[in-house]
Amino acid sequence: MTRLQVSNLSVRFPTRHGEVSAVSDVDLDIGVGETVGLVGESGCGKSTLGKAIMRLIPASGGTIKVDGQDVTTLGRRALAPFRTKVQMVFQDPQGSLNPRQTVGKSIARPLQVAGRSRREIEARVNDLLTQVGLPASAAQRYPHEFSGGQRQRIGIARALALSPSVVICDEPVSALDVSVRAQVINLLKDIQARSGVSYLFISHDLSVIEHVSDRLIVMYLGRVVESGPTAAIWQRPAHPYTRALLAAAPLADPVAARHRVRTVLKGELPSPHAPPSGCAFHTRCPQAQPVCAQTRPALRDLPDARRVACHFGFDGEPVTAP
Ligand code: SF4
Repeated sequence: MTRLQVSNLSVRFPTRHGEVSAVSDVDLDIGVGETVGLVGESGCGKSTLGKAIMRLIPASGGTIKVDGQDVTTLGRRALAPFRTKVQMVFQDPQGSLNPRQTVGKSIARPLQVAGRSRREIEARVNDLLTQVGLPASAAQRYPHEFSGGQRQRIGIARALALSPSVVICDEPVSALDVSVRAQVINLLKDIQARSGVSYLFISHDLSVIEHVSDRLIVMYLGRVVESGPTAAIWQRPAHPYTRALLAAAPLADPVAARHRVRTVLKGELPSPHAPPSGCAFHTRCPQAQPVCAQTRPALRDLPDARRVACHFGFDGEPVTAP
């Protein structure tokens, strides 16, 4: 069953100099108990996509379906049930925790809004704290009394309060030490194995993404350039941008590291205010040809359930170039 289905989603922002396309024609779907990783450099549109799915910012086009229901244009009142189904875990959990409120009150807030009884709320808060590996006594304490990793556990407990179908995890471990990072990732995986919750896992860190994701979506300047099963992409990335990102990611396996083709990503991500013509990656692509600056490659299907947007194949032969 598909929990989240996003089709042709676009987000455009008005600016003084016209419109900026932050997200263009993105398709993605996530099944029950599945994790889809969303990667790309800072500014590629992945957090904007997450916020648009949460309906925190409006979509300019396309549709968002949660558990089969189209929620793209629901008004404020009709959105309330949707708010229980899709939750978010942020990089900095401070943002969702009131420093002047006890942890118990912060976790209880979504349950109060949903009209749960005091008794139910008390039991649920205790249960959630246990699920994230914190003692029940944590409910009486304040956020500043906890470490960064513990605060992220509290953020996860709050996101899980209403048993959502989908949790959007936006760089949830980027601010944590490496050792704590592994603990929080394992916690998210344990919770998924127990509850069947689905994750959209947004990160710029491919080594984290590889560890958690069943499938992967790679974004560049607001567009999907490659998508498919994580293992297939990891073994043989099809898009030059994915190859460059992978080349920069640390590999645990020294044999695999020795065989990896080094592709250095040069230059900065171009401004979305003035995106390059044709394939937006052509200004940084080591394989770019004249056609790349003229024509934008469409996403095409590869045999292993993958999609890639490049005029050329693995062997460098043109596949869509005129
Ligand atoms: Fe590189 Fe051209 Fe492929 Fe774009 S279309 S990724 S510029 S080879």
